[in-house]
Amino acid sequence: MSAPKKSRMEHSPEVQKFVEFLKIRTVHPDPAYKESRLWLLDYVADIGLEVVVDKEYHPGKPVIVVKLPGTNPELPSVLLNSHVDVVPVEQDKWIVDAFSGHITDDGKIYGRGTQDMKCVCIQHLEAVRRIKDSGTKLRRNLYLSFVPDEETYTGHGMGLLCQSEEFKSWNVGMAVDEGLARENSDMVVFYAERHCYWTDVTFSGNPGHGSRFIENTAVEKMRKLVNKALDYRENQRKRLLADACMTLGEVTTVNVTMIHGGTTPNVVPSEFTVTLDCRVSHEYAFEEFKNLLKSWIDEAGGGEMSFIASSNNDALSSIDPKDKWWNAITGACKKHSVKLVPEIFPAGTDSRYLRAQGIPAYGFSPINNTPILLHDHNEWLGVDTFMRGIDILGTVIRDLANVSG
Ligand SMILES: [Zn+2]
Repeated sequence: MSAPKKSRMEHSPEVQKFVEFLKIRTVHPDPAYKESRLWLLDYVADIGLEVVVDKEYHPGKPVIVVKLPGTNPELPSVLLNSHVDVVPVEQDKWIVDAFSGHITDDGKIYGRGTQDMKCVCIQHLEAVRRIKDSGTKLRRNLYLSFVPDEETYTGHGMGLLCQSEEFKSWNVGMAVDEGLARENSDMVVFYAERHCYWTDVTFSGNPGHGSRFIENTAVEKMRKLVNKALDYRENQRKRLLADACMTLGEVTTVNVTMIHGGTTPNVVPSEFTVTLDCRVSHEYAFEEFKNLLKSWIDEAGGGEMSFIASSNNDALSSIDPKDKWWNAITGACKKHSVKLVPEIFPAGTDSRYLRAQGIPAYGFSPINNTPILLHDHNEWLGVDTFMRGIDILGTVIRDLANVSG
């Protein structure tokens, strides 16, 4: 006779908290930040953590930071960061309600944020609850931050928090933030991320009647840039495919994401705008790629660049085996027989704000044997993987906060 299947009510308190959080619609473009703030404040009060920040650095964008004091508060502290917002869903492409926290009979928790990154938020809190309840005292002060707007690239969450006076007073020595799932039994830790350029490029040219051969049009210039960008993209794609050891974070991607122009079918417009999303590998210095982009635009006949967002992510956190933080993370995972693979994050996370301040930051979501489903339809995480992640992060957090010197 097979074992009876667990109903929702039989799941552990940790899973129940996770499901509660998944049900809060902190989804763009109008995230339920008021609700998530109140829910988090109740949650941390239940664990018994001291709230050190409960404020909006940008109107309508609440940030919460809590603290577990260490026995040696003069030592640099450890920060565990989570963003509370999630990206929108196309509900008709999901097999369940994306905000129901539905758990299948075979133990998959479905919902937007199950991987990115409500899982890690709950895992940090539940790991810290266990440390606290066990009476174990940690050497360093431990801070847990819950920030808005990671997904919008505006910097209204961590970007502003890490410039605040209170943040400086915490003397943050290192931080742990989100990572990605991995499909095999290893886990991945991100120690850097690519540079980012999101830019509009507007081309001007001669207008005229849609029936004629107008010379020197805006769209011709735009086509030259688009061709350049796509040729470059293809070369980078081939490089990545040709080398099995190479990861996405080590090549540069250029994608055309939007094209705007024209008013009516029979008028050749005087302007066209193309939007590029460029994620640039560390083979380039920050300015170097911008100059390459400018040279493409010049060759196309000249256009106006207007940056939507860009970030210089030159800083890399150490993965030297002698580095005390890296050593603590890898050592902690070894205790759980987890092999860590260090990689460069292919997209952007809040870690970039911390690294830019010289604070080592590591992106780690303890998810293995799971497809990468962040921002995808039917995002899910296994109950067992989620629960094991609390154990693993518990050891990582304890060992980091007990690093000496
Ligand atoms: Zn995320």
